[in-house]
Amino acid sequence: MADKDESSNYIVPAADSKSKALLLRYPISLPDFGSGGKTNQWRLQMPVIDQDKCIKCIICWADCPEATIHRKSDDSVEINYDYCKGCGICANECPTKAIRMVDE
Ligand code: SF4
Ligand code: SF4
Repeated sequence: MADKDESSNYIVPAADSKSKALLLRYPISLPDFGSGGKTNQWRLQMPVIDQDKCIKCIICWADCPEATIHRKSDDSVEINYDYCKGCGICANECPTKAIRMVDE
């Protein structure tokens, strides 16, 4: 069991939180809005949508684990690249192969 150290984004192992002598800290990454949650600096691949192949089924919108695919009023979709992590799930699930992953 670990305690959240409120003074920073670190987890402090519970056994060490009382004994400062062996205080071990390791960084954690939490989902976050704003610059702290942006993925566009470490993503290796990005999904690109071919709108001509898109049938507006919104499967990619429903399956994106980061909810970073925006569904427009006409059910066309666009990707917010600030928060896309490049996992490729949308490309795998797209029934018409309208999404392909390309290297950054
Ligand atoms: S690559 Fe992953 S995170 Fe990015 S839009 Fe597709 S499903 Fe979402
Ligand atoms: S899954 Fe493919 S066809 Fe369906 S909305 Fe997304 S890009 Fe378009």
